[in-house]
Amino acid sequence: MLAVADVAMNGKSFHIITFGCQMNANDSWWLASSLAERGFTRTGLEDARVVVLNTCSVREKPERKVAAALAEVRRVTGGDPGVLVVVAGCVAQQMGEKLFSPESQVRLLVGSDGLARAPEAIERLLAEPQERCCLLDFSVGYEERKAVRAAAGPVAQVNIIQGCDNFCAYCIVPFTRGRQKSRRAEDILEECRARLDGGAREILLLGQNVNAYNRDRQGDGTSFASLLERVATLPGLVRLRYVTAHPRDMRPEDVAAFGNVPALCPRLHLPLQSGSDNVLKRMGRKYDSRTFLDLARRLREARPDMALSTDIIAGFPGESEKDFEDTLAIMETCEFVSSFSFCYSDRPGTRAALMPDKTAPTVSLERLSRLQALQDALTRRLLADRVGRKTDILIEGRSRRQPPGKTSWRGRDPYGVVVNLVLEGQGDYTGKMAPVLITRAKRHSLAAEPAGDMW
Ligand code: SF4
Repeated sequence: MLAVADVAMNGKSFHIITFGCQMNANDSWWLASSLAERGFTRTGLEDARVVVLNTCSVREKPERKVAAALAEVRRVTGGDPGVLVVVAGCVAQQMGEKLFSPESQVRLLVGSDGLARAPEAIERLLAEPQERCCLLDFSVGYEERKAVRAAAGPVAQVNIIQGCDNFCAYCIVPFTRGRQKSRRAEDILEECRARLDGGAREILLLGQNVNAYNRDRQGDGTSFASLLERVATLPGLVRLRYVTAHPRDMRPEDVAAFGNVPALCPRLHLPLQSGSDNVLKRMGRKYDSRTFLDLARRLREARPDMALSTDIIAGFPGESEKDFEDTLAIMETCEFVSSFSFCYSDRPGTRAALMPDKTAPTVSLERLSRLQALQDALTRRLLADRVGRKTDILIEGRSRRQPPGKTSWRGRDPYGVVVNLVLEGQGDYTGKMAPVLITRAKRHSLAAEPAGDMW
């Protein structure tokens, strides 16, 4: 076996730094597994001959974050030109060849559609140190990636669609990930089967807008609801989830699936963004507060214990105090179990960036803290309600903190809430389904004790 120093010397070592969403995390997992299958070894930054920054431009100041990360890579590697730096993801797509400055260690740029070809390009660039390469073109169809054998743990994330056609006024995704391209159902099912054979028990279907699946020219005709049904019948599957859904694209059959596909967990992330019809219209979300509330009601009719979570933007251009209060009201009505919330900020190239009447940063921040206080109260109340109930958790691994003489395990309940479970045994329980009794609610998680045999 090669020591880390030998690995670094032979150039087959890599380090990946990931920013952003679950899709980026899954892309990084695939790239790491693919490089490992080509004989590369994952190392710390200081020993890596290939450093990949997988970037995101959804949150604020993405270019500055990437510049800071590149400066850190330069500091740790001493600017060694033999280190191949790869910038992948949304910022690579946005900044393009600007990232190839004369003193830069960056020699490979990879957009979301180019990832499938990245491992081969990395090997070629290691052999040709004077070369640079751009994989930034958008492809017409979903670019299938070579299957990897690596086990990903009990929860397997599987891409079903790439890009987005919605062009919400504030969002950069359609420009950085391109137009919507659905993956063939047979390819999805094949990957799901392989991941279940590899030990996964839960499948998380991923995409920027999963329930627009196959509503594009590339589609093979399978509807999202029938894809769910087909995945749900695969041998070995215990749980099925998906993220992210667009409220406008939830068809009646997608709602009904929560009632008639038993493996589909009763948890849905449904981005609201604003509770004000005026703001939703300017955002280009193509639904209003009434249709969102009606959707939440129908989901709970199909599955009475449905837990909803959401995304909210505070201080969108032109948002009045009344608009913001409408958002707070809908949050209470929907009883979101959690929310990702942030202050609006411009993304160059989007429609919202050109809108006048920007909300003052102090006002946005004050609104953000009010909505987060409301969310904290909702989360506390909903989690407290769970104490004393029995449920099953899928154990994903060890908890961060370990009690003396015992082991603590971290899993999720069917509603996606993290549950920590302390056990006497010292074995490895990763991947087990554990019946538990919820004993305590914390701020964002639950504690439980065993309530039956694991399976
Ligand atoms: S649906 Fe989501 S990913 Fe698509 S443009 Fe809107 S916010 Fe962006």
